[in-house]
Amino acid sequence: MARFLADWARSRGIETRAIDLRSRAESSDVPAGRAAFWARIPGTGKAGGAIILLSHLDVVPVDPADTAGWGAIDPFGGVVMDGAVIGRGALDAKGALVVHLAAALRLAARATPLGRDVIVLSTPDEELGGLNGAARLLREQPELVAGAAYLLTIGGGITVGPSGVGEAPGLWEVGVAEKTPCWLELRARGTAGHAAGGSRDSAVDRLLGALARVRSLPRPVRVVPEVATLFAALAPRASAEDRAGFADLETALRDDAGFRQRFLADPARAALVRNTFAITTLRGSRQINVIPGEAAAGIDARLLPGESCADFAEATRRAANDPDIQVDVRFTFASRASPSETPLMDAIRRVAARVDPGSLVVPRVGTGASDAHWFREHGIVAYGFVPRRLRPVESRRIHGSGERISEANLQFGTDVLVSLLEELDR
Ligand SMILES: [Zn+2]
Repeated sequence: MARFLADWARSRGIETRAIDLRSRAESSDVPAGRAAFWARIPGTGKAGGAIILLSHLDVVPVDPADTAGWGAIDPFGGVVMDGAVIGRGALDAKGALVVHLAAALRLAARATPLGRDVIVLSTPDEELGGLNGAARLLREQPELVAGAAYLLTIGGGITVGPSGVGEAPGLWEVGVAEKTPCWLELRARGTAGHAAGGSRDSAVDRLLGALARVRSLPRPVRVVPEVATLFAALAPRASAEDRAGFADLETALRDDAGFRQRFLADPARAALVRNTFAITTLRGSRQINVIPGEAAAGIDARLLPGESCADFAEATRRAANDPDIQVDVRFTFASRASPSETPLMDAIRRVAARVDPGSLVVPRVGTGASDAHWFREHGIVAYGFVPRRLRPVESRRIHGSGERISEANLQFGTDVLVSLLEELDR
């Protein structure tokens, strides 16, 4: 795919590379065929460092049991129907890549170049955490993004009401921070044996006991500054009864029991003010009549920005309270926020006011993760924002069934992105 895109860009006179992430040293952990796509539209440099338009080449699988969700449509068939491109990746993230490419093509055709370079980058492995994609690229070939000041990627966009695309004014959500993923594995050891004797203290029994204790750990409510800013920005759109609470979230959650109850009843909101915790994998014996010597459980916790997975693992270890249970961190990264007051955010606000009068631009905190944090670590202001208007029902198709993007949205996204890049020059 990286080669296909590079050929496509080269044939249009654009400077480009397909970056082989397989052929480099110590690559045995990378499955064959991993590569990234990179292209550059040079600017004068007078306005400052480059802006990177980042997407990813990989997609999540389609659930083979979910035949009803896709109907007669082949999720990998590239189907265009009823004015929409339908298939896995239409939103996450090839629809974003198409908008980035269309914008690049238009910029390349300009008589006068922009004041900064525009880099289009699409990496593999994002859905698996980016270690073999964005992280590896930044480690091995940092010169490809040297001097970059800004980055736009998935993790934000324009949400419109339930009644249809084109409905204005929209909510322009710009991702500035993400929660910290903290993936743990609990492993219990015990004596293996014949199940006919019964079990009271086996690895499985100990694991279940520990999981019960870990599940009942308190999950205190805490309002981090990015979330306080988000809800303050949303306050004008909130219901009359919630408006004051949104404007001062920390106080309202502490002092107003009715507000607190309403707020926490919505899982998406609750996840923004406390750590979440899901037991996702369980492993024991492979055979019903055998007591296993080891039992294990995987936990996907998402921590509030600023909290450390090492501390969370230690709290889990204390709660498990069993010397025969080992708690290991399987994956984490330190979440970092980008400042929400920057020339890029100002440019987004000016474009929003022009193309969508009455719209509201808010700095969003994501509960999921993208590759943005790898670039934030390099001092790049990275925002989750793809200019497309989606109803909530459309966004929910990401990682689900019937994923699609309308052709009108691809056109709109290209127009808005080009305006945004021009506005950033001013
Ligand atoms: Zn995804």
